[in-house]
Amino acid sequence: MKKIVKQDQDVIKQHNKLMILDIIKKQRPISRAEITKITGMSATSIGRFVSELCEEGVIRETELTSSGVGRKAIMLDIEPGAIYTIGVDIEKKRISFGIMDFSESIIVYHRIDYQAQKANPEETADLICREIRGLIERQGIPYEKVIGVGIGVPGVIDYENGVVQLSTTFGWKGVAFADLIERELRIKTVIDNDLKVKILSEYLYGSAKGSNKTALIGIGTGIGSALIINGEVFRGGSNSAGELGHTTLDPNGNLCECGKRGCLQTYIDENSLILEARRVTDISDVRQVFAAARNDERWAKEIVSRTALYIGITINNIVCMYNPDTVILSGDLVENFREIVDLVDQHSEQVIWEPFKGKFKVIPSELRGDAIVMGAGALAMQHFAPLAGSWT
Ligand SMILES: [Zn+2]
Repeated sequence: MKKIVKQDQDVIKQHNKLMILDIIKKQRPISRAEITKITGMSATSIGRFVSELCEEGVIRETELTSSGVGRKAIMLDIEPGAIYTIGVDIEKKRISFGIMDFSESIIVYHRIDYQAQKANPEETADLICREIRGLIERQGIPYEKVIGVGIGVPGVIDYENGVVQLSTTFGWKGVAFADLIERELRIKTVIDNDLKVKILSEYLYGSAKGSNKTALIGIGTGIGSALIINGEVFRGGSNSAGELGHTTLDPNGNLCECGKRGCLQTYIDENSLILEARRVTDISDVRQVFAAARNDERWAKEIVSRTALYIGITINNIVCMYNPDTVILSGDLVENFREIVDLVDQHSEQVIWEPFKGKFKVIPSELRGDAIVMGAGALAMQHFAPLAGSWT
């Protein structure tokens, strides 16, 4: 009986300690008095927990002048070097890495050109592990301080089991990718769909900061979307919510790679723009379409304008379904050709349903290329930080 009581006390103690750490992390820098006020715990208990966290190297004292009074007050802040996570973004033609410290800053970025679709998943996992090891070593970070790896992968991801169910981009099917990384590195690993990682990032650090309900549309070589509600990524039944690319726009439309007709992606992805353009001229890259449009060539302006119209329609559909306060446009097509955002705006009068006009804002992605690395680092932090290090 006594033993159970003792265990309960330990659990409560641990819970309170993590809660204090959480308060310091979110409201840093903060004084002991403020923490006492927020928690309603005694100053003695707070003092004890704070000393323990200091001793464990998780937080530190900083001296700051408190506002108004001008008196120096000892403030508490987290120790950025207490723990680290690694964020990884696997794209079609490159892999990007970042080391995130406990203050959630990326302290170093690293990018390599690599085409995962030309290798098998094991080779790609091996390469990622090698690069991560090298990165940790070059930064001089003690290996055991790296508590998690987060990876964004384009495709349908079984997020709970760390399995890539289907990635048409890389030709992967049923790949237990998190396991491959975890076994090799001996660091806990979480994987998620790239756009879900991206929206988490925009919510924590970018355009969606402070928004209650944000939708993100990714337009590039494929089309997808993600939704975050009060900080929680909406996942749907099997983490596939937001697979917009194969929603049907016209049952008699263009034939899609999936075998159906008239899927959204056959109207607005990069490949569809190139196919359209080839009816007029011999091109191989979407950049040529935009260059011709800037050059006032009629066929190119027509294609770009039609793409903007369909993006506008997509925004309308999403807004009608979810009523978000913010819609973020992201992906190569939007990030490389910003003029399309203005065109989408011009079409909005025509395509947005009246009750929603002026009720939400459309903004281009703020974090652009770094969003997934940051979001993946944050995802690993959210997953593994409370369990990590000496304070477990
Ligand atoms: Zn399709």
